[in-house]
Amino acid sequence: MKAPMNDYLAELLEICGEDDGAVADYIPELAGADPDRFAVAIATLDGQVYSAGDADVEFTIQSISKPFTYAMAIHDQGLAGVLERIDVEPSGDAFNEISLEPSTGRPRNPMINAGAIAAHALVAGDDADKRSERIVDLYSRLAGRDLSVDEQVFESELSTSDRNMAIAYMLKTVGTLTDDPADVVRGYIRQCSVSVTVEDLARMASVLAANGVAPDGTRVLEPGVTRQVLSVMATCGMYDAAGDWLTTVGIPAKSGVAGGLIGVLPGQVGIAVFSPRLDEHGNSSRGVRTFEKLSADMGLHLMEAPESARSVVRVPKAQADDAPSVHEVAGDLRFIEAERVLRGLEAEPEDDGVVVIDLHRVHRVHDVARRMLLEGIRRLRIDGHEVRLVDPDGLLPDPDVDVSEPGDDTPSEDYTPQVFDTVDDALDA
Ligand code: GLU
Repeated sequence: MKAPMNDYLAELLEICGEDDGAVADYIPELAGADPDRFAVAIATLDGQVYSAGDADVEFTIQSISKPFTYAMAIHDQGLAGVLERIDVEPSGDAFNEISLEPSTGRPRNPMINAGAIAAHALVAGDDADKRSERIVDLYSRLAGRDLSVDEQVFESELSTSDRNMAIAYMLKTVGTLTDDPADVVRGYIRQCSVSVTVEDLARMASVLAANGVAPDGTRVLEPGVTRQVLSVMATCGMYDAAGDWLTTVGIPAKSGVAGGLIGVLPGQVGIAVFSPRLDEHGNSSRGVRTFEKLSADMGLHLMEAPESARSVVRVPKAQADDAPSVHEVAGDLRFIEAERVLRGLEAEPEDDGVVVIDLHRVHRVHDVARRMLLEGIRRLRIDGHEVRLVDPDGLLPDPDVDVSEPGDDTPSEDYTPQVFDTVDDALDA
């Protein structure tokens, strides 16, 4: 069978191919880009990549590097250390605005150049070369192949980097930069000049979507780091069109002046589009259109609640007096499902009857749900029940609870429910 996804993407390019906008020319080498190039790619969390159009054409990553370097700065310095130097407020300004927050002297966010240059300098490494090497290595791990710097674009941008130099010297005056500003800008421009294809970008985005885990199961970024990065992308990723983007497309995103654009749908996919003509905000015109269409066609807007939750909670019907009741859960056990389970357990009368909690169709128990469930078990026990868990995959390890009465001199007393592989085993025990 021919992959329907690829056909859909090819169709998308046809629909969104109007040739409005203009190629960025403030970096001389970018002015020579073929304006008609157009490509789209979608990467799933398990490593499947679908693409259409000029999917093997390389271009420079430019500002799409910013979220990934920000991730590395957080990894190296800790979130608090980074927040001390770079804020997370949308600026509404152009990407290369020479300004800092008046009250704190911090760049407003890491997606504009001031914040991105500061983030680059927070990456561990003795000099620009070392930092850039580590950064390219991270991008390569995210893309799943060795990436390298396009030296021509790098030299070209370096020769016209007065504005970024001005920003870096300004950062030095307020103490945000302690290294040589020119060296930091050199490293920052190297990071912007990494050469990628639209498929590389989709893969990189998919690792953010997977909470930092690559398709082969290796963890590349910590979950707390990806959450921070995606939040900043959602509010500041699209230059001064970030609000418009969030309301229409509703996906955390980042664009670059070479025409690349990535979107990250947490828990689902990484998406990338490449087309060099830019709109008045500096975002790829066709890229924006493609994302708008994709989001509408596939219902990807983050703020659109799914119509039916994936998880099911079955509360037992009334049974004969001495029959055990079975509370069954399927899917993901998060706050909202655990609340439904607790509501069901609350209806159990205070007696010594058996209560079975069946988790055999659950695939994940989130930490908050674990705490809620253990509290439910504790209270059932205090009411006099025997609790039996059906948990063949050990999703609720160490389910022991403290059932001692509150009070200073009461020794603590633990209760551990019996665990079974099947509901029948639990009922027959
Ligand atoms: N290297 C570019 C700059 O700093 C990146 C700009 C962008 O992609 O928005 O000017």
